[in-house]
Amino acid sequence: METAAIAAFTPPVRTLMGPGPSDVHPRVLAALARPTIGHLDPQFVVLMDEIKALLQYAFMTRNELTIPVSAPGSAGMETCFVNLVEPGDKVIVCINGVFGARMRENVERCGGQAVVVEDAWGAAVDANKLEAALKAHPDAKVVAFVQAETSTGAESDSATLCALAQRHGCLTIVDTVTALGGTPVRVDEWGMDAVYAGSQKCLSCTPGLSPVTFSERAVARIKQRKTKVQSWFLDLNLVMGYWGSSQKRTYHHTAPVNPLYGMHEALLMLRQEGLENAWARHWRYHLALRAGIEAMGLRFIVDEPRRLPQLNAVTVPPGIDEAQVRQRLLQDYHLEIGAGLGGLAGKVWRIGLMGHACSLKNVLYCLGALDAVLTGMGASINPGQAVAAAQAQWSHGAGK
Ligand SMILES: *Cc1c(COP(=O)(O)O)cnc(C)c1O
Repeated sequence: METAAIAAFTPPVRTLMGPGPSDVHPRVLAALARPTIGHLDPQFVVLMDEIKALLQYAFMTRNELTIPVSAPGSAGMETCFVNLVEPGDKVIVCINGVFGARMRENVERCGGQAVVVEDAWGAAVDANKLEAALKAHPDAKVVAFVQAETSTGAESDSATLCALAQRHGCLTIVDTVTALGGTPVRVDEWGMDAVYAGSQKCLSCTPGLSPVTFSERAVARIKQRKTKVQSWFLDLNLVMGYWGSSQKRTYHHTAPVNPLYGMHEALLMLRQEGLENAWARHWRYHLALRAGIEAMGLRFIVDEPRRLPQLNAVTVPPGIDEAQVRQRLLQDYHLEIGAGLGGLAGKVWRIGLMGHACSLKNVLYCLGALDAVLTGMGASINPGQAVAAAQAQWSHGAGK
């Protein structure tokens, strides 16, 4: 590439309603641009402690080991697996979508033995199947599952699954990347042991950080390991010396200083809104979106009781090239929605209502644009009704 012609990169302003990243609030973007200071600066140490406290609030936990890993959600996933799974360990992995399958991959790369409990894409993890697997494998040490499957929009019942695992002497590894900030994640109340999340979904921060939290049971297991954690970077025995106590912080790696300013601001906004209010907001706008989607004649693939408000997987009308629709939405409306993954590719769209992107304005904008594009392509939908239906649902809900 000829470099002389390269100018500053000025990204277009999009509306992000896919599976993440979600729209980032201007307050968070402004925080990112504040002056960089040293990562061992006493002022930065204060920021680190505040981030830990705000993450404890978001995760509803008193866990001491609650920190943002300096890398995306996938690194939070690896942090949990490499620290808790030793070679030869048996791990029950519940798979009901893309991210559960990645958990199995993690177990195997740690030298563990994965026992798979499988459920259909779009269904929640079946507690009865997990119980049968726990009975069949009394030597299992860990149970892993995804609370909010972003590939389908199904939510699994963390309270029940964690209680089952605990009754059978297993620790739990739970993926809450899409859940945190959108639907309840009650780490202490539900007895979750190793939990990871992401910055760019319902926390509406920029991508690249992964909040994690570990129970005392999980920390004890890590400290008792017979073998060294195979990843130097993600070894919590080392990371704890850096994030552990503000008294004597020792260099491990250079924390991503400015991204952590952004995370601090995003978590502060969540604290100011209040977790319960944030969950309620995700429901309110999901219901408005649902009214519009159904008025158009499209369907949701996840059954109502297990549907995530923040990730809406909806069917593509017959004969429509879904990629072309997304392309038009992006080009003409600067609107991003997600494609289907795996077996759902070409069959569904994934409409995210995550964090700052979860607003009435976005719901109406998305429905209006989708309606116009589909009508223009001659799709068999009920045209011109979606926005009014969403608006009616919203007014009805607001009047309660
Ligand atoms: C997005 C996501 C991840 C991965 O996060 P990255 O930041 O993309 O690495 C993991 N699990 C779930 C459920 C996700 O939605």
